[in-house]
Amino acid sequence: MVHFIGAGPGAPDLITLRGAALLRAADVVIYAGSLVNPALLDYANPGCEVHNSAEMTLEEVLSVISEAERAGKTTVRLHSGDPCLYGAIREQTDALDKLGIAWDTTPGVSSFCGAAAALGAEYTLPGVSQSVILTRAPGRTPVPDGESLRAFAAHGASMVLFLSSGELDAVQAELLYGGGYTPDTPAAVVYKATWRDEKIVRCTLGTLAESGRRAGIRKTALVLVGDFLGASGERSKLYDPAFATEYRSGTA
Ligand code: SAH
Repeated sequence: MVHFIGAGPGAPDLITLRGAALLRAADVVIYAGSLVNPALLDYANPGCEVHNSAEMTLEEVLSVISEAERAGKTTVRLHSGDPCLYGAIREQTDALDKLGIAWDTTPGVSSFCGAAAALGAEYTLPGVSQSVILTRAPGRTPVPDGESLRAFAAHGASMVLFLSSGELDAVQAELLYGGGYTPDTPAAVVYKATWRDEKIVRCTLGTLAESGRRAGIRKTALVLVGDFLGASGERSKLYDPAFATEYRSGTA
């Protein structure tokens, strides 16, 4: 059996209780290199076999899993954040299905949630934005045509860019081109959210590339853009005295 587990954004106590329990019970752990805090490996049994997948190909990962299966062992595949975002798990689960190896997934706290917590921010502010775009800039790996940053920027919604802190010049230019944001739109770069060496850079879209450069941030960071990082909007209807809900009568 293989358990895909979200390790959370970095702080070792941000893994789920289920993830930690499965990690404790694992015979083999394959963790996703530098993006997973090595402190999480302390949950594993000292006798457990540990592999760093940053140094492995998909074929090598599958071979370690297959060997463990033959020996009746349990494998944990530990991914950063939540495995469902940029985790490259589908190619693994498809291969496991073909090999007839059972697997399941335990979710984790994605880094985009860790970054919002670090900033004390809420992505969905009434009257400001009610949508979050999770995306990335095209780098060495392409992004489908209909998903260009300039197309998404037209919405002016709250946006989080993964895997893009090495391309801040292009990100800034593309997002400004889209029309939904201005050079004054608030932005932030969050490096290693929830890790001990977390770094937060607050800036505007117009100063994004320069601010990232000055802070020396090139990887393991998220770029956040949108008015949700600025002044708060309207108050919510949910807690408005005049607004009746299923659980509370309104006063108006
Ligand atoms: N599955 C992960 C994302 C993996 S892709 C998740 O849900 O968070 C790797 C990218 O995620 C990094 O390049 C970076 O952009 C982002 N990332 C992962 N952990 C991070 C953290 N603690 N702080 C900031 N960005 C992080």
